[in-house]
Amino acid sequence: MNEHEQLQESAIDYLRVLAQHIGERPAGSPAEKQAMDYIQEKMEKAGYHIERTPAAFASEWPYFPLFGIGALLLMLAGFLLSVTPIPALLLPLLYIALPQVSRWMIQKKERTKQSENLFASIPDAGQTNRLIVCAHVDSGKMSGLQKPIWINFYNQLLFYGQRIAIFLAMLAIVQMVGVRLPIEIFIAVRVLVLLLGGIWFSLDLVAQLGGSGRCSPGANDNASGVAVAMAFAQSSKVKPPKKYQIAFLFTGAEETGLHGAETFAKKLNPETDVVLNLDMVGIGDQLHYVTAEGTLNILRTDKVLNKVIVQSDKNAKGIWYTVRSGDFAAFLRNGIRATSLEMRSGNQTGYHYHSRFDHIYNIDENALNATLRCLKFFQAFYEDEF
Ligand SMILES: [Zn+2]
Repeated sequence: MNEHEQLQESAIDYLRVLAQHIGERPAGSPAEKQAMDYIQEKMEKAGYHIERTPAAFASEWPYFPLFGIGALLLMLAGFLLSVTPIPALLLPLLYIALPQVSRWMIQKKERTKQSENLFASIPDAGQTNRLIVCAHVDSGKMSGLQKPIWINFYNQLLFYGQRIAIFLAMLAIVQMVGVRLPIEIFIAVRVLVLLLGGIWFSLDLVAQLGGSGRCSPGANDNASGVAVAMAFAQSSKVKPPKKYQIAFLFTGAEETGLHGAETFAKKLNPETDVVLNLDMVGIGDQLHYVTAEGTLNILRTDKVLNKVIVQSDKNAKGIWYTVRSGDFAAFLRNGIRATSLEMRSGNQTGYHYHSRFDHIYNIDENALNATLRCLKFFQAFYEDEF
């Protein structure tokens, strides 16, 4: 077995312990702590110094109204179209604003519970510049939807909703310039918004409330990122870069609103620290990197890091998170240069996260391998950037 195969083997062992033996890891739970203890044991054995620091977090609402409001507004705009074009005109703008408003709501919520972060580094290594590989340890709330087809459909409903919103806005403009639309159009619009809005609202209720508060086993999201980071830590300890140090951050309470990363970001130095985040790297055949996050207040990831990712994997593809987020965003908000890696097949994330399918049985060793390979190339390329 060569060195790379050994690392791949270790990554799978780590993933098995985190996602199968320990299993669901809600923020602040004994299982999250158990996972941190396990990471500490392995990282110390690899020769790292460990620092564990508390991170307060706000618990999630049992029901979060983002999509519910989106669905109701869609129905409202469609039904009122024959009376007034104003709601239909505003709808695309509201859809752009909603995810941002929900981000603000989560950030403002009072933090009453405790999680923690684990930082593994080599103190006094002689380098001031640090590349910090980050991965969240906690797993997210499990969707109440049981069939892949429904989860996929639900994940794409915002996409369809946005297109219909643009279509309604166009009809509103046509009306406003004085064109009289036939009654059949208004009837068709009502049927369309009633169907789509109704399905969206109901699926969202089942997705949020049907999981009875349980968390997913979090194999892909994000034992995969943790396991790959741990395996990479072994290799970078043996062959460290010359001009910078590689350190590792394992965060808690990411799923509740990036609380672990948010707390740790304040300790970092924007002059010397950069963060490479790993989130959902266990399924899919193509490496992706996040280029931006948000809709109104857009956060852009670091161009230099992204350039190096593309150099280390020519097929790597950029993605813009409009609804989803990740730890990298907490670093960007605090002025720390950061980006994030994810494995995917095609454009969609699929049904393997926040669901019962986020299980070790669905993990693809090749995806872990591709990420590990990218990190090793990245390490060599990044040497030139200092
Ligand atoms: Zn995640």
